Amino acid sequence: MVWRMSTADRNWEERLRESGLRVTRPRVTVLALLHELAGHHTAEDINTTLVDRDVSLTRGTVYNVLDDLVQAGLVMRADRGPGTAIYELAETWHHHFVCRECAAVIDVDCVADERPCLPADLPGAQVDEAQIIFRGVCADCLASK
Ligand SMILES: [Zn+2]
Ligand SMILES: [Zn+2]
Repeated sequence: MVWRMSTADRNWEERLRESGLRVTRPRVTVLALLHELAGHHTAEDINTTLVDRDVSLTRGTVYNVLDDLVQAGLVMRADRGPGTAIYELAETWHHHFVCRECAAVIDVDCVADERPCLPADLPGAQVDEAQIIFRGVCADCLASK
């Protein structure tokens, strides 16, 4: 695959710099891909897509890049319970609904709009995040019954 510097790439470079991360090709690639794919993806999905496109990043690099981007606040890592974590661009802080039947992951607005949105009774601890997983059956699954 030929790398071309597009307007979009420059935008990602700026976002990386603003978050205090060094601009590297793998970081820009992963950000651009998450933007293009939209929604939620596992690290393995991302790796597979890159392999399909002949992008030469090792699996280890993809995982490291995702970790760096999560720490910098550019990417959100969401837990959906059993199974692997999912990643998405961190546009706004939100929670997730996971359908028990089809495992669809749907964004749920955060009512507090700031983290942590729930108080935790943990004397002496510093809590900076509360991620909520809503569970049930999604509208599509309900409609197909
Ligand atoms: Zn469903
Ligand atoms: Zn989400």
